[in-house]
Amino acid sequence: MPATDFFPQPTYAASEKVPRVLVAPPRYIQGSGVLGSVGRYLTIINIKRAVVYASARGLAEQGPLLRSSLQDAQISSMDCRFPGECSLEAIDAAVATLAAEQVDCLIAVGGGKCVDAGKCVAYRLGVPVVVVPTLASNDAPCSAVSVVYTPAGVVSAAEFFPDHPAFVIVDTEVVAAAAERYLVAGMGDAMATWYEAKVCLANPKARNVVGARPTVAAAALGEACATTLFAHGLDAGKAVCENRVDDALEQVVEANTLLSGVGFESGGLAAAHGLAGALTSIAAVEKNYLHGEMVAAGVMMQLMLQQEKSEAKRVAEFFAAVGLPVTLAQIGMQRSDVGDLRQIAQETADYMFISNLPFDVSAGMVYAAVLAADELGSEVTESVGDTAYRRVQN
Ligand SMILES: [Zn+2]
Repeated sequence: MPATDFFPQPTYAASEKVPRVLVAPPRYIQGSGVLGSVGRYLTIINIKRAVVYASARGLAEQGPLLRSSLQDAQISSMDCRFPGECSLEAIDAAVATLAAEQVDCLIAVGGGKCVDAGKCVAYRLGVPVVVVPTLASNDAPCSAVSVVYTPAGVVSAAEFFPDHPAFVIVDTEVVAAAAERYLVAGMGDAMATWYEAKVCLANPKARNVVGARPTVAAAALGEACATTLFAHGLDAGKAVCENRVDDALEQVVEANTLLSGVGFESGGLAAAHGLAGALTSIAAVEKNYLHGEMVAAGVMMQLMLQQEKSEAKRVAEFFAAVGLPVTLAQIGMQRSDVGDLRQIAQETADYMFISNLPFDVSAGMVYAAVLAADELGSEVTESVGDTAYRRVQN
């Protein structure tokens, strides 16, 4: 069993010249109805027996079409239920169930935590993972990294894998059938990609998630996240409200899934994901808000930390228009929660990628940036309103 600090990448000594490295899944497939073609794609890598790893709901909703697609391709399959949290307990339980089953791939069907748990299980079984996201709410599907949580949902570790998912197959009809809130959360996660990659590209000391320098290509994917969202985010939100697939939705699903996934891993992370991870240690936030919503708070904080107030305002106006949180109150916190705010500020300042910023970051600076972002968010809420936020959150 690998330790959770296993890092299957070369590391570079301080004296070495660090190369540019880009990593990505070999095959990304996105379109309306592609769930019915999963079997056809898997024959490319000669799969004969697969396990479908999904929540009870996923097994009921996507299972039938997926199983018939596998059958049509002469691939036998079995089901394994994801219990709801990507914890070491859940991963070990699935490995114990599947160890003697001789499957030659694991198909993880679901949201970010199911996908991340599926990567961990497949790695331990020594088989490729195929990721079939049912939501475009996060940047998990395309990376070779999983975030592992405690059974209570607090971020506890990151696992790095030597291989990427063999396929990422996104059925936009499935994504369009989900609640608007998931797509919108994915926009928060995707927007961060650009601001974090931009920092890493500009700072020669910065490292991406595989410990190397980012390529121009990875930063360009990050930038494409932001331009795609500003251009199509609002329309994509409307499409998913009406459970309809259109070009705007296709563009944003790609931004949230492919561009954001490859963009964060190869482009690099900075403060936005640091704050998002820290927020999971506040139980009321973790229980009620999605990863992408916490990352949205992180983007605003990072831009304030960088003293980029006009860019922060532009982003906050977009967030408020699509329904992402822009104030502390909108992620269930208050300016008066001094103890909690100090705690998340300290955790953010200790984040493994915080040093990608070109200046030293103290807990006090994060604390001040969180309050400044909240102030800006309140001003933006006054002008843009919170109708979208309230609709998205119900
Ligand atoms: Zn993320």
